[in-house]
Amino acid sequence: MEKKEFKAESKRLLDLMINSIYTHKEIFIRELISNASDAIDKIYYKALTDTTLKFNKEDYYIKITPDKENRILKIFDTGIGMTKEELEENIGVIAKSGSFDFKKMNQLKDGYDIIGQFGVGFYSAFMVADTITVITKALGSDDSYKWESKGADGYTIEKCDKDSIGTEIILKLKENTDDENYDEYLEEYKLKEIVKKYSDFVRYPIKMDLTKHKPKEDSEGEYEEYIEEETVNSMIPIWRKNKNELTKEDYENFYKEKHYGFDKPVKYVHIKAEGMVRYNSILYIPENIPFDYYTKEYEKGLELYSNGVLIMDKCSELLPDYFSFVKGMVDSEDLSLNISREMLQHDRQLKLIAKNIKNKMKSELLGLLKNEREKYEKFYESFGRQLKYGVYSDFGNNKDVLQDLLMFYSSKEKKLVTLDEYISRMPEEQKYIYYATGDSIDRIEKLPQTEVVLDRGYEILYFTDDVDEFAIKMLMKYKDKEFKSVSSGDLGIESKENEDVGSVEEEDNKLFENMKTILSDKVKDVKASKRLKNHPVCLANEGDVSIEMEKVLSAMPNNQNVKADKILEINVNHDIFKSLKDAYEKDDKDKLDLYTNLLYNQALLIEGLPIDDPVEFTNNMCKVMI
Ligand code: ADP
Ligand code: MG
Repeated sequence: MEKKEFKAESKRLLDLMINSIYTHKEIFIRELISNASDAIDKIYYKALTDTTLKFNKEDYYIKITPDKENRILKIFDTGIGMTKEELEENIGVIAKSGSFDFKKMNQLKDGYDIIGQFGVGFYSAFMVADTITVITKALGSDDSYKWESKGADGYTIEKCDKDSIGTEIILKLKENTDDENYDEYLEEYKLKEIVKKYSDFVRYPIKMDLTKHKPKEDSEGEYEEYIEEETVNSMIPIWRKNKNELTKEDYENFYKEKHYGFDKPVKYVHIKAEGMVRYNSILYIPENIPFDYYTKEYEKGLELYSNGVLIMDKCSELLPDYFSFVKGMVDSEDLSLNISREMLQHDRQLKLIAKNIKNKMKSELLGLLKNEREKYEKFYESFGRQLKYGVYSDFGNNKDVLQDLLMFYSSKEKKLVTLDEYISRMPEEQKYIYYATGDSIDRIEKLPQTEVVLDRGYEILYFTDDVDEFAIKMLMKYKDKEFKSVSSGDLGIESKENEDVGSVEEEDNKLFENMKTILSDKVKDVKASKRLKNHPVCLANEGDVSIEMEKVLSAMPNNQNVKADKILEINVNHDIFKSLKDAYEKDDKDKLDLYTNLLYNQALLIEGLPIDDPVEFTNNMCKVMI
């Protein structure tokens, strides 16, 4: 007999399981059945390609047997089994399957979150059992092995006798406590209920010996017990069933059972396509962002089945990147079982399915937006960024799919609005869709550049996401209206007739020339502002790169030092302008220099841009005060 220790991470997870306060402990049954079903899938799949193997459907099943007297629960399968190496690899170390993330585990303290957020598989059995024994014989192997563990101490492995290929998991249940009843996992009715709830669609029979009653022969009114083996799951996969036979709960349970997520989906869609290509599909839009969603680790894709047999876990070809949050499965009779990843990419059928799915998701999302606004906003909060990335990264080619799904915060409504809503409210003379960019709504609201636009009663979209402005540059227009930043050089707003925009004289232009010389290449121009009402100064910009984009680009790892063309705008109606003029007229070079630099730095601060020399700036401020 060999004695081994668990790896460090496994030990920590084990501790969590053993001391778990998780209220749905019953899910350990779902986990063990799902492993058994995976193991049968493996042997089934092998038999399809290996002619020496015969797969008789009747030979493959899972059996659950409670033994009340000894407080033991057995889960038996005729799957592919495990070799000694596999036992150590797969059960000695947790979750190579990726269903669990160690980094995340460090951040969470009690077991509740862990089990709530990840599938934890085999180890979940330690929530209910003191000792777990695995007896297994692998396909193609002469030896069978017994693995046993009492938890954190480690495990033992020894040879044993098992005739048939497959695995048996034996759980010695914990003793009942004041608030936990482990005995119920030995009750037939309870086990049946749990199997129905979580594992009804498992494709192989899950059998149990059930106690039944029949009238006793010869004696009137008396009954006798007998035992009959029964298959307790319905086995028909949910996607083959008729939609009207299924309830919301069925779809939500399937979502959980499949580990698509541990939240409740915002939306599910069941497609039964009969046209050019035949397939069944169930798709979900999750409510919460998977913890790794915006990282490189996240893999998009749908489960792909060929006629009921899983051929791929995550078929990425089925989803465009901008819908990478969609979870679910596709089953088609028109796909070959032995199709390889490379072949899939060129498969005509698969391309058709992908196109259908894309269109379906688009219309579902539009429907959600139209009919269940609150839910859509929840969805958008999680995945809106991804849609905007979609617009940007495909150079606006997905405009048609995505533009109506976009939302931005509105100065008028103080909440998210669609572009269509914006357009429909535009006064007739308004030429552009105006937007302002900044780190937060609060900051944008205080931007001097918004003054004149708001003053006209025009709505402004607030862009607070890095990607917003980049995406909008790709769209260029929405329903023939161009987008315009409130900081752009020409706002396209005519000044009202009786409005005093401040008269700029020849002399003033010389002053601005002077200021420009002082600032040299820091700005492209210095001008009298047409947009400022109360604020003394702001930055505007010309050209394709905006100030916000400069910020985003310079924060990137390999930044190309792209700079926006900045224009310093001065409010000629502000008293500060008098001071500037005064200094200029008196030919006080030092003062003009000082004021110009101060104003420029103030404009940078308002934009949230770093000032070149903070020490000099503070010294200058002091000079003015003294
Ligand atoms: P996952 O199922 O996500 O891979 P688990 O912790 O549930 O993670 O199982 C770990 C691994 O142990 C499985 O991937 C599989 O290789 C192996 N395993 C577990 N149960 C069985 C079983 N009944 N038959 C064969 N292999 C099994
Ligand atoms: Mg598992």
